[in-house]
Amino acid sequence: MIVGVLALQGDFREHAGVLRSLGADVELIRRPEELARISGLVIPGGESSVMDKLARAFGLADPLAEAVRSGLPVYGTCAGLIMLADTVIDGIRGQQTIGGLDIAVRRNAFGSQTLSFETDLDVPVLGDPAVHAVFIRAPVVETVGPSARALATLSDGRCVAVEQDNLLGTSFHPEITGEYRFHEYFLQKVAAANFRH
Ligand code: GLN
Repeated sequence: MIVGVLALQGDFREHAGVLRSLGADVELIRRPEELARISGLVIPGGESSVMDKLARAFGLADPLAEAVRSGLPVYGTCAGLIMLADTVIDGIRGQQTIGGLDIAVRRNAFGSQTLSFETDLDVPVLGDPAVHAVFIRAPVVETVGPSARALATLSDGRCVAVEQDNLLGTSFHPEITGEYRFHEYFLQKVAAANFRH
């Protein structure tokens, strides 16, 4: 089974490294025809408005949305989470998403004063210990619709990790802190889904 990492922009190398160290067969994805080979996809952190423009320019946006609708397991971190959200608040003019997650996310939700911060998060589906989470110009999930469920919240109650069927998303970046459990959890989803194009 091959797991793709969307490699248009952002920290795709870090994700590929984590997935490979967990034993996954990884391919970097830049073209629509490469989607046919993969059983799961990670969308990295970066800048969602740029990723959106590149995905549309490379003809990937529509095939990706179609694959998500047909059940392709996808994990998005930060900008990747934004790409998976049905609704974006504070997007740039004309910003679109692939969608699939029944959520509204607010981009750069911690304001320009707080470019990044770190905190320990309780994530019940992963058990102990708490996840050390790094937020970099991060979004928050402002609304969790009835089809999605929150996996983690900050101490102020704001949601920063969600799951919905084949989709998983985090506002933060496990790929840069040596935290492998989200990727492990995602690889279990990929194996369970056994997705066929
Ligand atoms: N602020 C970025 C965006 O809007 C996300 C930042 C990140 O991925 N670390 O896409």
